[in-house]
Amino acid sequence: MAQVLVIEDDPRIRPLLVRALSERGHAVDSVSRGLDGLQRAVDTRPDLVLLDLGLPDLDGVQLLSMLRAVSDVPVIVATARDDDATLVRCLDGGADDYVTKPFTPVQVEARIRAVLRRMDGARGRGGARTVVEVGGLRLDVAGRRASLDDVELELSPREFDLLRHLAERPDEVVTKRELLVEVWQQPWGGSDKTVDVHLSWLRRKLGENAAAPRYLHTVRGVGVRLSAPGPDADA
Ligand code: CA
Repeated sequence: MAQVLVIEDDPRIRPLLVRALSERGHAVDSVSRGLDGLQRAVDTRPDLVLLDLGLPDLDGVQLLSMLRAVSDVPVIVATARDDDATLVRCLDGGADDYVTKPFTPVQVEARIRAVLRRMDGARGRGGARTVVEVGGLRLDVAGRRASLDDVELELSPREFDLLRHLAERPDEVVTKRELLVEVWQQPWGGSDKTVDVHLSWLRRKLGENAAAPRYLHTVRGVGVRLSAPGPDADA
């Protein structure tokens, strides 16, 4: 889930985007004018800006360069123009990606996720949290690989995301609702059963089961917690 700022003047497209992105679990804020967008981006520090290039008060390319002067927030530009020159100027000017109108909310959301993933990876390469370790469990977040006691785990993308979410919060009880929102991006739909099934698959891959947990501990009626096994756990 991300905090997304939509700068879009089209009165039909804006509410559509806000609703669609909200339904996918993002916190969405929107404005219809470029200068308001600039102000909002500075004030609220969103995770990502979706910027329409055809705004009433400011040229989108110009706005992008003003935004870049004050913020390194990831920006996806949206353009109706079949105009390669404008796109090139935007990408040169610091846009991270683009969508061409007409687009569907699903396409926009996919771009948003891709850009945020790249940002995560880039931050990881910067030396911060590229590796998460809990006991013998080791996750290479940028490389999306996981190992347990130096043995590589074969995880599906969803299992990796689930394990990562828990491993980044060791010893913390995480609710199934939170997992549905953060890992499945299903804030209102989704069933606890989905989480249970994936947890049981994950347990099997970690070589444990719910009755004799080492890393994944069910907290009945609340959720699940990942903790390093104690020193005598293997005994
Ligand atoms: Ca427009």
